Amino acid sequence: MTAVPKSGEDRSVILAVDDDQGDLVRISDELSTRYGRHYEVRCTSSPTEAADTLRSLVEAGRNVALVLADQWMPSMTGVELLAVAKGLDSDIKRGLLVSWGAWGDEATAKAIVEAMTFGGIDYYVLKPWRIADEFFHRTVTSFLHEWARNNPLGIARVILVGQERSRRSYELRNFLSRHRIEHSFYPVDSPEGRAVLEDLDTVELPVAQTLDGKTLVNPTDAEIAEACGLKTHLEGEETFGAVVIGSGPAGLAAAVYGASEGIKTLVVERGVVGGQAGSSSMIRNYLGFARGISGSELAAQAYQQAWVFGTTFLMTQEVTAIERGAGGLVVTLSGGRRVATTAIVLANGVSYRRLGVQPLEDLVGAGVFYGAAASEAHALKGRRVFIVGGGNSAGQAAIHLAKHAASVDIVVRSASLAESMSDYLIKEIEAASNLAVRLRSQVVDGGGDGRLEHLVLRDLDSGVEERLEADALFIMIGAQPHTDWLPDEIERDHWGFVLTGDDVSSGSGSSPDRPLPLETSMLGVFAAGDVRHGSIKRVASAVGEGSAAISSVHEHLRGLASSPA
Ligand SMILES: Cc1cc2nc3c(=O)[nH]c(=O)nc-3n(C[C@H](O)[C@H](O)[C@H](O)COP(=O)(O)OP(=O)(O)OC[C@H]3O[C@@H](n4cnc5c(N)ncnc54)[C@H](O)[C@@H]3O)c2cc1C
Repeated sequence: MTAVPKSGEDRSVILAVDDDQGDLVRISDELSTRYGRHYEVRCTSSPTEAADTLRSLVEAGRNVALVLADQWMPSMTGVELLAVAKGLDSDIKRGLLVSWGAWGDEATAKAIVEAMTFGGIDYYVLKPWRIADEFFHRTVTSFLHEWARNNPLGIARVILVGQERSRRSYELRNFLSRHRIEHSFYPVDSPEGRAVLEDLDTVELPVAQTLDGKTLVNPTDAEIAEACGLKTHLEGEETFGAVVIGSGPAGLAAAVYGASEGIKTLVVERGVVGGQAGSSSMIRNYLGFARGISGSELAAQAYQQAWVFGTTFLMTQEVTAIERGAGGLVVTLSGGRRVATTAIVLANGVSYRRLGVQPLEDLVGAGVFYGAAASEAHALKGRRVFIVGGGNSAGQAAIHLAKHAASVDIVVRSASLAESMSDYLIKEIEAASNLAVRLRSQVVDGGGDGRLEHLVLRDLDSGVEERLEADALFIMIGAQPHTDWLPDEIERDHWGFVLTGDDVSSGSGSSPDRPLPLETSMLGVFAAGDVRHGSIKRVASAVGEGSAAISSVHEHLRGLASSPA
């Protein structure tokens, strides 16, 4: 069947704006030649005209996939125009056009870093300088690929119909997005929604329809996962070499290294692939991804890599217990199923305590950040920064950020930092002229136009609220490990993080060499990533530990093979 090109009115739009006529002609040629069949390509030299075009397209209900804008234009900068695009539709991909000649120009580099930090642009794009400039197309295509994940141009793998503001509809969309399953969502009263519902004799929502004709009414995560081809249960009796608990970066790395090195590996994940990292819209500090990578894309790639090497994934299943069995270890799954294994890698991560202020949750990645701040610091030069949290990590982040920012305010509910922060950090904070501590204070509101612009702080003693201008907010109010269900035999620190290697006090018992690196106090049980005591809470370190845990698993297996029966 030949796909019939859509008419201009139906196609999604790519809009480019550049006041340099020569550049604009080249950009227009490249875009029209390569993408003109499936997208409507519009180009203009005027940023104000581009802003008006965007407004009328969005008002008319047209999809805009990508806006490319030169930074240095007379009436409006590219970053300002791209902010307009984001304000109209946050799904639009936004690229800042950079000339090869301006490469290395400090002002342009600063504009890029700042805009990326505050979520103003997705990335920069080097302008094409020859016909069929594949470098230019690589960036444009990856923008369109990202955009099409949530806005499939043709047939979607799943059609979801539900109430627009229903929590369950949102959860299912989130589940599908994080698993990179192309889907279209239609409100119940839209023509498309009504068309799906008219043949069904149900009033229960949401309804999901898959490409192969299955209809699911208010499905559970497991049901939708199964319908989309994800495995949610084991069929026969199987024994594994390693069971990895959790599919965040640490678990995925353990799976890739375990399976590729010949260990029969099972990964059990109770939520969605990618863990915390999967919820990050853009990871910018992971080695090798200069333009950053969305957490869900990184997770999807790693999932495929592990799967190709032979890893078995069990989705929407929770490990509820681990214990010693007759021939090794046994993990119990949420449905009661027990699985035998020789080794276990705990990669079950942490959850960050959320601030719970919805307008600020909506700005995560656009001036609001969970966790530490090292990679954002250089974009905060001259900015007003707030940190919520009174622990040592909040103190270290404050000192680091104060080297760049105009001011840093630490906001804590307690009456003194001494309750939670080391003395040496408190002294450094007191010594810094641009660092202030707001004791007995709480962030209760905030907002901004597409990025953080203000916060509202409440004085917990007087109840008085104050509105303050703010450019960045770092939320560092603690991470909770998921470890309450582990057996007592596995030692944990005061906060529940799992002790491994030299931190284990009792040893795992079998020989003086135990515990191995990353081994817990339970023989054959290893821990990697954020769940581990002393871990660096980063994607790269979780990946490193996941792979290193497999090296110890090998040693464990060798030890078992050589020990007398
Ligand atoms: C919003 C956000 C943005 C971030 N951005 C960055 C960044 O830009 N750069 C960076 O370096 N770091 C970033 N981090 C930190 C980074 O994501 C974490 O350090 C990393 O994900 C830790 O990986 P992990 O595999 O140890 O654990 P997690 O990512 O926490 O994954 C653990 C997984 O285990 C599963 N699980 C838990 N218990 C069970 C159980 N009993 N059975 C089955 N499954 C279970 C969970 O569902 C989860 O999927 C960010 C974190 C957040 C929250």
